[in-house]
Amino acid sequence: MNELFEIELSHSSGVYAKHPIAIVRGEGARVWDSEGKEYIDCVAGHGVANLGHAHPAVAEAISVQARRLITLHEAYYNDQRAALLGKLARMVPELDRVFLCNSGTEAVEAALKFARLSTGRSGVVAAMRGFHGRTMGALSATWNKHYREPFLPLVPGFSHVPFNNVEALEKAVTEDTAAVILEVVQGEGGVHVADPGYLESARAITQERGALLIIDEVQTGLGRTGKLLALEHFDLVPDLVCLAKGLAGGLPIGAALIGKAVRNLTPGMHGSTFGGNPLVCAAALAALEVLLSEDLPGQAAAKGAYLLERLRGLRSPLIREVRGLGLMVGVELRSRVAPYLAAMQDRGVLAFAAGLTVIRLLPPLVITQAELDTVIESLRSAIAEPIPETAEA
Ligand code: PLP
Repeated sequence: MNELFEIELSHSSGVYAKHPIAIVRGEGARVWDSEGKEYIDCVAGHGVANLGHAHPAVAEAISVQARRLITLHEAYYNDQRAALLGKLARMVPELDRVFLCNSGTEAVEAALKFARLSTGRSGVVAAMRGFHGRTMGALSATWNKHYREPFLPLVPGFSHVPFNNVEALEKAVTEDTAAVILEVVQGEGGVHVADPGYLESARAITQERGALLIIDEVQTGLGRTGKLLALEHFDLVPDLVCLAKGLAGGLPIGAALIGKAVRNLTPGMHGSTFGGNPLVCAAALAALEVLLSEDLPGQAAAKGAYLLERLRGLRSPLIREVRGLGLMVGVELRSRVAPYLAAMQDRGVLAFAAGLTVIRLLPPLVITQAELDTVIESLRSAIAEPIPETAEA
């Protein structure tokens, strides 16, 4: 066995299923393994590398800032952080305060705590098939029992309703509900897009009952769905928006955008040692500049429409449905996807699963049309190939 695999298998925690390749370099939508084999990367660090790998503007910002100041607690002011907060505060004009942290689950955790603090209530309504992270609060909002059950009991007060069902939401939100938390497109849950009107109804219901609306844009945010934020596809102003993944061009970051209904955030109520450090803020500033100046949301909209149309044209009996928004695309098969993902990898394309039967494609938004054509051809030929029975399990 490759020595590098052996070390990771012996000494990493064991909580990740591993693919038998070591990726050592990336550029744009491509990555290379330790043997020099090239892949088009539709995993993109699980939807992080929206700008593509090793973007020179982000690399430069990191290297300049690393020589100036890497760490500084939010108890002190900083030029990079102030500039980033100013930009994030304008992303949804009504949400003009920001809590900075280091990951998606932390952004969700903050939003949940802020909702409880603001309302004095404890209930949280989330959606079936929703995914919000792995820390105890975020995990309580996550649906999949495979992630939840080994850790029971979770945080009390959480319930789950079917996604895109307004009536169920009406029934679930009560005077004990602190917040409703929803994704605009459920990513991990199988790439399911919110129906027109559903999120607007969630807004109306929460407002009417005095609960807050949290929109989790950890996966959908930063251009992925064809808009800077996916909520821009709808007529929607939530109370809290969670961001992470692509926000800092690949460095770890999380952010909760905070609206006026969020109250009682006084010193000491919440915090993070690394949150808002100058290095990550400099990277995020550079990443946002590239996102906007190169109109990556617009590029994602056009490329995503092309990808969806071509995939819908494949007409394989194995394909149950092709779904998505922008460059967040799911191909649901009538079979488990694992062997087909392996066949795509053999053909030089990395893709990943959303559940057991959905192939998820989250390519960098800078992917070229020629690269998209290669992805489509690799998927077409992978699902056209008979899979040996032993691989089906
Ligand atoms: N929320 C959503 C919608 C996600 O897709 C994810 C991760 O995939 C998270 C939260 C958790 O983010 P992280 O893995 O950075 O904690």
